[in-house]
Amino acid sequence: MLIKSRTVPRELKIYQLLNSRKKLLENERKHLYTLQKGYEGEVLFDSMTSSIQTDCLILNDLLLPQNKNTFQIDSLIIIPEKIYLIEVKNFEGDYFYEHDRLYTRIPPESEVTNPLIQLNRSESLFRQLLQKLGYNVPIQSIVVFVNPEFTLYQAPINKTFLYPGQINRFLQSFHSTSSRLENNHKTLADQLKSLHIPDAPFYLPPSYQFDELRKGIPCFFCGAFGATTKGAYSYCVVCDKKERMDTRILRSVDQFTILFPGLTITTKRIHDWSNGEFGKRVIRRVLQKHLSVKGIRKWSYYEFD
Ligand SMILES: [Zn+2]
Repeated sequence: MLIKSRTVPRELKIYQLLNSRKKLLENERKHLYTLQKGYEGEVLFDSMTSSIQTDCLILNDLLLPQNKNTFQIDSLIIIPEKIYLIEVKNFEGDYFYEHDRLYTRIPPESEVTNPLIQLNRSESLFRQLLQKLGYNVPIQSIVVFVNPEFTLYQAPINKTFLYPGQINRFLQSFHSTSSRLENNHKTLADQLKSLHIPDAPFYLPPSYQFDELRKGIPCFFCGAFGATTKGAYSYCVVCDKKERMDTRILRSVDQFTILFPGLTITTKRIHDWSNGEFGKRVIRRVLQKHLSVKGIRKWSYYEFD
């Protein structure tokens, strides 16, 4: 049973939006690639765990506080006997393991952070958190490598690594348990969900200004900028797919709020942000309609100008 699902991390969303609107620096492009790849791996693992038919509680993507620290868990699975803490890695290609370190095998060989280091830290903090909440449940931490193109040479046998060919067997092993989940398992899952911190701090905060970003509304389907308007619809100049004008404007507003949470939404700003694709009257009408009808809180800063 899924208790908490995964959403696209805010950091990844911001980097994706910036990537279409400015030239990212080399280290920012690499960071975007890492974030994207990591997220795809997590989503792939989620699709595997979603098929579990047995008695278990799943919480995906948790950021939890413990004392003055925070720690992150890719997937947490509660079964009657224990709790699995799972770190998902989407590494691709050949790696090798030596003296508790992990290296890429393709020259130049370079060390990557051993996922066990992060996982050990998370396990320790999670154990403290469980004690604070009054639970004494066995914890097992596992690093899951989800990419079928991943090979680890000199893989340690006594480490809790799970490889692509073993994931299904691991998930099916849950079926062999005869115990049942009890109310306190569900209570714990709900407590953990309520402790989750929604916005993770950025590892590499990008710097950007309104003025330096490309203006316009990227196509929902192909990402291209530019559209022609006929009646209530806009047609992409590249893929020719149509989208309702209102939907397009609201998407533009949504992207604006993600990139500039501190800036006030005004008709003029959205007009500029959309590169003048729609007249101010149209934008004002859409903003007014969606403020009054839906009362979406994130637009409560909207001002008439
Ligand atoms: Zn398009």
